Amino acid sequence: MARQRQSATGTRNGARKPSPDERQDDTDNPVAPDVPEGRPWGRGSKPAPGLYLVSTPIGNLRDITLRALDVLSQADLVACEDTRMTGKLFQLLGLSAPLSPYHDHNAERARPALMARLAAGEVIALVSDAGTPMVSDPGWRLVQACIEHHIAVTSVPGASAALTGLQLSGLPADRFLFAGFLPTRGAGRRTVLKELETAPATLIFYESPHRVAESLSDMATVLGNRDAAVARELTKMHEEVVRAPLLDLANRYAAAPPRGEVVIVVAPPGDAAPIGPEELEARLKGAVAEGSSIKDAAALVAAETGLGRREVYALALRLFRGGNEE
Ligand code: SAM
Repeated sequence: MARQRQSATGTRNGARKPSPDERQDDTDNPVAPDVPEGRPWGRGSKPAPGLYLVSTPIGNLRDITLRALDVLSQADLVACEDTRMTGKLFQLLGLSAPLSPYHDHNAERARPALMARLAAGEVIALVSDAGTPMVSDPGWRLVQACIEHHIAVTSVPGASAALTGLQLSGLPADRFLFAGFLPTRGAGRRTVLKELETAPATLIFYESPHRVAESLSDMATVLGNRDAAVARELTKMHEEVVRAPLLDLANRYAAAPPRGEVVIVVAPPGDAAPIGPEELEARLKGAVAEGSSIKDAAALVAAETGLGRREVYALALRLFRGGNEE
């Protein structure tokens, strides 16, 4: 497609620059963009009526696609989670389509109006604050309604933190399970993790930075000390991927919570490194060296590893007191 575009504008092979009318008649390839010089988007013929699920960047503005710009610049309406967020994005991109809120709290009320406009033949784009709509973001009921009412729906794909995190994790990417956000409370979180325990796939989670350490610790407890990656601030200036077993990551982020946005990627079952006696001893000694009492060290290590408190306490007593109670 890029080759066709360049020769159509005469930038390659010395080809004559076609007149605007000739460009409009380029029907051999229905996806060949009608490219004006100096601004390779947004001036083609108006997109066909329907709902367009348009991905936007997750941090790097230059990850917007030409097709996203085509659609967003010509949509009759852009439905977005937060009009202020999308308004800022539009300002940076020089776009000015009308914006209308569509989010978890108003979706039931807002959907009928969107459906009426779609039924009348309008072009409506759905965007989220960042990334791919519907991936831990609103939109699937709107898509479902369009399918039910035979209204065209298409996707304008682009960035998504889940796939970007998976790519950079270094973990198997041939089979993965996107699990979105875990419940915020420990018991609920562990219940969901238990459901995922035997899934033969790499697991991908979104997590808020201040819950990363406790989630990693619960993952280690329920899933075992599998290899994992914490991918932070993807596509942004401070992009960082830390790859280590879950317990090491839990300790690292308990000491200093990560800043910014985070994706956690966890290896499939079978790769878990069992926690051996040497590692347990090292953890207990480390905790005591940092000033914990034997009892507190045992409680800490039990929480980190998911092993029973009594079991770890008994080991700690053997290690530090020859088996005598404190
Ligand atoms: N729909 C979006 C997508 O396709 O990636 C995700 C929306 S979800 C509400 C927001 C979560 O995605 C964040 O809390 C974080 O877990 C993850 N996320 C978004 N942008 C990110 C980035 N640049 N780096 C790491 N994680 C990111």
